[in-house]
Parts: sequence; C-alpha cells; structure tokens
Amino acid sequence: MIFQDPLTALSPYYTIGRQIGETYSKHTGASKKEARDRAVEMLTRVGIPQPSLRVDDYPHQFSGGMRQRAMIAMSLVCDPDLLIADEPTTALDVTVQAQILDLLKDLQQELGTAIIMITHDLGVIARTAHDVMVMYAGRAVERGTVREVLKAPQHPYTWGLLSSMPSLGGPLDVPLRPVRGTPPSLINMPKGCPFNPRCDHQEQVLGGKCSTERPLLAPATGHATACHLTLDRQQDIFINQIQPRLG
Ligand code: SF4
Repeated sequence: MIFQDPLTALSPYYTIGRQIGETYSKHTGASKKEARDRAVEMLTRVGIPQPSLRVDDYPHQFSGGMRQRAMIAMSLVCDPDLLIADEPTTALDVTVQAQILDLLKDLQQELGTAIIMITHDLGVIARTAHDVMVMYAGRAVERGTVREVLKAPQHPYTWGLLSSMPSLGGPLDVPLRPVRGTPPSLINMPKGCPFNPRCDHQEQVLGGKCSTERPLLAPATGHATACHLTLDRQQDIFINQIQPRLG
C-alpha cells in the first residue's frame, strides 16, 4: 500500500534502505545484505539518483517527491499482485504529482501489478485509471470505464462532482455548482438513498422511493449506478441539464 503522506508513513528513525529491506526480508527471509541489495535495486527502479548512496539516507534527507518514490519502492519490493495507492499525490506539488503518476503507470505496465487508486482528484482518474468506482457515504454509487463515468455519468453525485470542477473547455459564463449540503454522518445515515438530502432530482423518481428505499448497484459488470432514476431519465437529465454546464 502507498500512503498519502510519505513523511508520516516512513519512520524518521530508520534509513530508507533499512525500511525497504525490512519489508523484503520479513516476507522472503532474505539476509541483511540481500535485503540491502534489493533496496538499492528498487530505488534504482523508481528513479532515485545515486541509489547505492541514498539508500543510507533518512527520510528527512529526501525531498517530498523522492520520499513518495521510496514509498513506492517499498510497496513494490515483494512484487505484489495488487497495489493500493491512497491519495498518493495529494501531498506533492503538481509537477512532482505528474512525475509520480507517470512512474506508477510505467511500473504498472512493467510489473503487471493491478493498482487501486483512491483519490478525490478527477484529473488523476482521467490520467491513470481504466475503470472507476464512485463512492458516496462509504458505498459505491457508480461504476464504469473512465470514458463512461467521465463522459456520460449517470449518478446525480457524479454530476455534482463534475459540475463543481473548473473545465478548460467549458463555458466561461456558467458558475461552478458545488454539491449543496454536507456528507452524512456514517453512524446516522439518512433513510433510503444516502444522497437524498443533497439530490436535486428525487422528485423525478415515482413513489417517493428516494427517501424510503436504498438503491443498490447492480452486481454485474458494466456501467451501472445505485439510483432510482430510470436510465432514460438519467440520460435525459444529463444531456439537457448537466452536459451544457460541463462543456
Ligand atoms: S436515488 Fe434518488 S436521491 Fe438518490 S441519487 Fe438517485 S434520484 Fe437522487
């Protein structure tokens, strides 16, 4: 797993090499020397200059971008099948962000490791992901390919996320529209659809189901939403009300 802030995720008391090597020797039984060699190899792989010297540095001697590279080296040291990256670029400036995303993409292709990227940044999703699951109040509300979810979103919460983001190609005279209200408390969830106190479209669902019945995401694969709106209604609202705002 790659954590959000490498400075707090890495121990300040141990060298970078020891932290990478420890993970490796715990899982493989490698000797100290083998673990150190592996740490140097991983630092080389993630683009740290002079890896055989920097392996003995402490985290505070690395820049923010280098620390995140070291975290990535640590997370990949045992060749995992799956990597979970929790907001891996939030603590970094945009230039370093782009470098780290490119590095993750290259390593994913080189090593064949699947990556689950947890992020609030739709730009990161557009740049890196194949498939997207939009979460609201701890539950999945929309699922599909990047193209489906970003180009033809179907869930009112996804519409809200996209409408609250500035777009370079969008109309200049249309103000951004944040999702109104605040997220619900997870120990006191609203009845019915968790998004209903913030949704502008529930009156278009027959029978008041939005406040009584929780919509579920279809278990099958493919583009799907957890919403009581019919697919025709979703498409109609998106084309006539949401898309003109997004440009
Ligand atoms: S189920 Fe109802 S309240 Fe929930 S997102 Fe759909 S329309 Fe809005």
